[in-house]
Amino acid sequence: MAQYSKNPFEVDGIHQRLDALLAECDAELTRRRDPVDFAHRYEEPRDREVAGLIAASLAFGNAVAARQSIDRALSVLGPHPAERITGVSRAELQRDLHGFVHRIYRGEHLAILLSQAAALLREHATLGRAFAQFHAESDGDFREALARFADALRGDAASRSMRHLVSDPRAGSACKRLLLYARWMIRPADGVDLGLWPIAPRELIIPVDTHVHRISRNLGLTRRRTASWVTAEEITAALRRLDPDDPVKYDFALCHLGVSRDCPSRPDFAKCERCVLQDVCEVWTSRRTPSSTKEAGQLGL
Ligand code: SF4
Repeated sequence: MAQYSKNPFEVDGIHQRLDALLAECDAELTRRRDPVDFAHRYEEPRDREVAGLIAASLAFGNAVAARQSIDRALSVLGPHPAERITGVSRAELQRDLHGFVHRIYRGEHLAILLSQAAALLREHATLGRAFAQFHAESDGDFREALARFADALRGDAASRSMRHLVSDPRAGSACKRLLLYARWMIRPADGVDLGLWPIAPRELIIPVDTHVHRISRNLGLTRRRTASWVTAEEITAALRRLDPDDPVKYDFALCHLGVSRDCPSRPDFAKCERCVLQDVCEVWTSRRTPSSTKEAGQLGL
C-alpha cells in the first residue's frame, strides 16, 4: 500500500479546503450530468444495480456519447432491467442489443456482461450479496474481491474488448469504471451514491480518472504521473488520513471540478482565483504550470 507523506499541517489545510469544495458542490444538479443518474431512475435496488453496472461500464470516452449509449442500452431492457436480464438467455440479450455500438464495445459484449450479471443475480439475489461473498472468500481483501467480481462478470469471454469493458484489478490498471461502480454501490446514500452493498465505505479505493488524477497531483496527494492502481491507492491513502471511514467521499466533487472545466487541464488563473482549493493547490501557490509540478514529481519532492 502506498504511503502518504504530507505533514499534519498541510493535511489539516487540505481537509478544510476539500470540505469547502464538497459544501459548494450542488450534488443534485451535478448528478444530472453524471452517469450515476441513470441508476437513480429506478426504484428497485436490483434495477439500480443493473442500471449502474451498465452506466459505469459505458462511462468511457466522450461524456455526451456515453450518456446516449447508456440510455440506448437501458431503453432496450425496459422498465425493470434486472427482471429482463434474468428472464432471458444470452442469445436473446444479443438479439435485443443487436446493432448497439459504443466505441470498441458491441451489443454482443454488453450481452455477455449482462448475462453474467444475471447469473450472479440468480445465484445471490443481488449483486451486492455476490460481491460480499467474494469479499468474504478473499479474507476481506477489497482488491481481490473486486477482481473476482470482475472475473465473474467477464465469464469465459477473454476477448480484448471484454477485458477492456471489465478490467482486471490484479493487472495494475486504475480500473476507474469498476471502482466508480463500487463507489456508487457502497458509499452511503447521499443523493449521489446509493448505499446498496453491505461493504464498509472505508474499504473503497478512489476511481482515478484524468480529472481526479490531475487535481490530486495539484494538491500533492500523489506525485505519480500515470493513473494506475498504485496511484489510486496512494490518493486513497492520503484521503484516508482526512476521513478513515469514508476516504472517497470527495471523489464526486473533485471529478466534477474537472468535468465542469472549473479546473481546466491547462491552468487558468482567472478560474484559480475563484477556486476553494487555491490555498492548498501547488499550481496556484507556486504559480507554476502543471509541467513544473511534474518536474517536482520527477525529483521526488
Ligand atoms: S487552484 Fe486552479 S489549478 Fe488548483 S484546483 Fe483550483 S482551479 Fe485547479
